[in-house]
Amino acid sequence: MSDKPRHFATRTIHAGEQFEVADNAIFPAIVTASSFIKRGLDDTPDYSYSRVGNPTRHAYETCVAALEEGVGAVACASGVNATATVLELLPKDAHVVVMNGVYGGTFRILEDYRSRTSGLTTTYVDLNDLDAVAAAIKPETRLIWIESPTNPLLHLVDIKAVCDLARTRGILTCIDNTFCSPWNQRPITLGVDLVMHSASKYIGGHSDLTGGVVVAASEDLHRQLRRISMAIGAVQGPFDCYLALRGLKTLDVRMERQCANALEVARRLEGHPQVEQVYYPGLPSHPQHELCKRQMRSGGAVVAIKVKGDRAALNRLVEALQIFVLADSLGGVESMINHSWTMSHCSMSPEQKGAMGISENLLRLSVGIEAVADLIDDLETALGALAGQ
Ligand SMILES: *Cc1c(COP(=O)(O)O)cnc(C)c1O
Repeated sequence: MSDKPRHFATRTIHAGEQFEVADNAIFPAIVTASSFIKRGLDDTPDYSYSRVGNPTRHAYETCVAALEEGVGAVACASGVNATATVLELLPKDAHVVVMNGVYGGTFRILEDYRSRTSGLTTTYVDLNDLDAVAAAIKPETRLIWIESPTNPLLHLVDIKAVCDLARTRGILTCIDNTFCSPWNQRPITLGVDLVMHSASKYIGGHSDLTGGVVVAASEDLHRQLRRISMAIGAVQGPFDCYLALRGLKTLDVRMERQCANALEVARRLEGHPQVEQVYYPGLPSHPQHELCKRQMRSGGAVVAIKVKGDRAALNRLVEALQIFVLADSLGGVESMINHSWTMSHCSMSPEQKGAMGISENLLRLSVGIEAVADLIDDLETALGALAGQ
């Protein structure tokens, strides 16, 4: 693509090095070769061994890096694998300041593994409280781990404010941008050093792949990440890179529809007699709605609700749904519903869940691309079943 700046929708199709492949194919080939042939001792081809570099992976990495406005990306086997790759940047005994209510898999790597294997220490704070962030910073603090919006209650972090503070202290910043995808939020433009995604969600978008990716804002960080990925072999296979790149092609149209559907769903559920509360950053009732308008393109495609009913009533609701499927994931074209208490956050104690604001009547909706009228009808029918109607 020429250097002329293009809109996001155009870049999803053309950004990166998607066409620099053999045979002028309009889409990169799935190169399954583990090894590449040298034509002589002095031959230095672009690729030597697929753990180090692979053409299909490269095409996907250049596209996602361009969409995030970074300089390069490293595709990993899963989202948590991308997180583990980022943590390899840190020296042993480093300290990390982490957003409250961070993704459970991130918490697990930090607390169950890196604390034991790397001497890593952590402090969890609400990153919107900059005084608390400043107080948490120690001489050995090397990283601030941001997640915005958080799961499942969709708290936002003022990304630019945190990055400004981190930069004055010489501390690296990384954000888990999974819930937004590069369509909805581009943290590098707000000062973030590293952007991490679970590609299993919006990037793939079709609930048919497991993957992760890290995008670097600087050449130096990209070089370091590539070296780590090569050293620990945390790479995404070519078939899944193909699926992820194919997913990116429709990211713009998927997100546009999903976010518009989510806003409509959130509006309709707010004030519904069976709904106690709606959590959606795109609604003026969200306490961080102004921040949402400043740093996100829309309120996103995830809506959380607290409903009026006990466990039995909740079961009636879930069983009455005909379009929304009860599932652990999010970000696919199909609408999904998740019961945080018994599903995503089941490993936490009731007290821990309570402290996070997660109650038994909380449901997280991942809104898909179906016709919004059908989605609303499905939810309203199920809410009727909840009420015993
Ligand atoms: C799913 C998810 C991850 C982990 O990704 P996997 O691909 O499942 O390893 C990390 N962060 C967030 C916010 C997620 O939703």
